[in-house]
Amino acid sequence: MKKKVTIVGGGTAGLFLAAFIETDKYDVTICEKKSALGRKFLVAGDGGFNLTHAEEMTTFKTRYTPEGFLDAALDQFDNKALGDWLFEIGIPTFVGSSDRVFPDNGMKPIEVLKKIEEQLKAKDVKIEFNKTFTGWNEENDLMFDAKEIVTSDYVFFALGGASWKVTGSDGSWLDVFPEKGIKTLPFKPANCGYNLDWSEKFSTRHEGKPLKNIAITMGDQTQKGEVVITKTGIEGNSIYALSPKIQVQLDKKKVAEVFIDFKPNTPIESLLKKLTESKENITTTLRETLNLTTTEVDMIKPSLTKEEYLDIPTLANRIKNFPLQITGAAAIDEAISTTGGIDLKAVKPNFELKKLKNQFCIGEMLDWNAPTGGYLIQACASMGVCMADMLNDKK
Ligand SMILES: Cc1cc2nc3c(=O)[nH]c(=O)nc-3n(C[C@H](O)[C@H](O)[C@H](O)COP(=O)(O)OP(=O)(O)OC[C@H]3O[C@@H](n4cnc5c(N)ncnc54)[C@H](O)[C@@H]3O)c2cc1C
Repeated sequence: MKKKVTIVGGGTAGLFLAAFIETDKYDVTICEKKSALGRKFLVAGDGGFNLTHAEEMTTFKTRYTPEGFLDAALDQFDNKALGDWLFEIGIPTFVGSSDRVFPDNGMKPIEVLKKIEEQLKAKDVKIEFNKTFTGWNEENDLMFDAKEIVTSDYVFFALGGASWKVTGSDGSWLDVFPEKGIKTLPFKPANCGYNLDWSEKFSTRHEGKPLKNIAITMGDQTQKGEVVITKTGIEGNSIYALSPKIQVQLDKKKVAEVFIDFKPNTPIESLLKKLTESKENITTTLRETLNLTTTEVDMIKPSLTKEEYLDIPTLANRIKNFPLQITGAAAIDEAISTTGGIDLKAVKPNFELKKLKNQFCIGEMLDWNAPTGGYLIQACASMGVCMADMLNDKK
């Protein structure tokens, strides 16, 4: 008789796991609290849909915090393997200018999801909707909606993080796991916007304006990219990538300082030369010779006294090292991903819960972090495939 596998949560990680399990060996059921699969996956596809990132694996692996926790899963199913599989099932991809990997041929997110769902259908994976996991009975069988008991040989939780609650990933399971002695950590926004003390005048004038081709540094980490000015601060890939460091600093000191380089491709000597040789006034030179935008000039100019602004070395230094005091993270529900959830110490290296034999946790519900840009979906896919391979290899 086939062994029974229950996957709780039909998001990215659950879908990949189900798609790779050999269903001639296992009877697989996904239990999902919503009435459809992959709602967060669809939301992810709404903006630029980064299915993975094309950088080489040594660097790729360093994007994850804590270091090394995902290495084995990535070795088993890396970005190339993901791209190959997507292609095989009818989802061609292309590598964008920033090395992010997107669906090709104008394929819409819903079409990508449908192709994956077709795989599940072909493998006869059962799907039960509107079923919310609420805990276990004394025998460690799963309990749904506080009444229905489900017994399984293997259980995989893929319950997601706690942002975009409308997609079903509301993190309401956080209080359930400690009932079995499994340590959880409070959710925090990651890959999220950050709050700054913009003046009313500045945010009214510049909300929605991008700062392109900049670099932001915190400590020893620098991230090139762009951000957008929001009413209360900034959001965008350049700041998302620094999230782990920013969060640590916010926890310790309630404030985190980062530095913007508005001209990361121009050495300071070259800036000094251009500023010194210009025959125009300073503001015109910033706009026309250095090609700084009005938003950037409106950040730089009021941050200096008149004397400092006219002092070329001080001004050049401010263009290369503009300090920003981050006072907090934006609302958790708007975050692209969250940290917190199941403490990684509560799972073995193969993601099995130390307290519950043959019950595993994968995906964003575990406490790890990575920048957006394809690393999140790749992590969920790699963990899912890794779990499937483990089952498939069992005698
Ligand atoms: C706006 C936005 C843009 C994004 N863009 C990208 C991107 O371009 N590239 C990238 O790599 N990542 C992106 N992400 C992140 C990525 O979508 C997620 O990290 C990923 O989907 C997480 O997968 P998961 O399977 O762990 O959780 P989810 O996909 O969140 O799935 C969890 C599932 O579990 C279900 N569930 C929850 N609780 C229960 C319960 N008690 N019982 C039963 N079912 C339950 C939920 O309904 C949900 O279906 C984006 C996210 C957002 C919000």
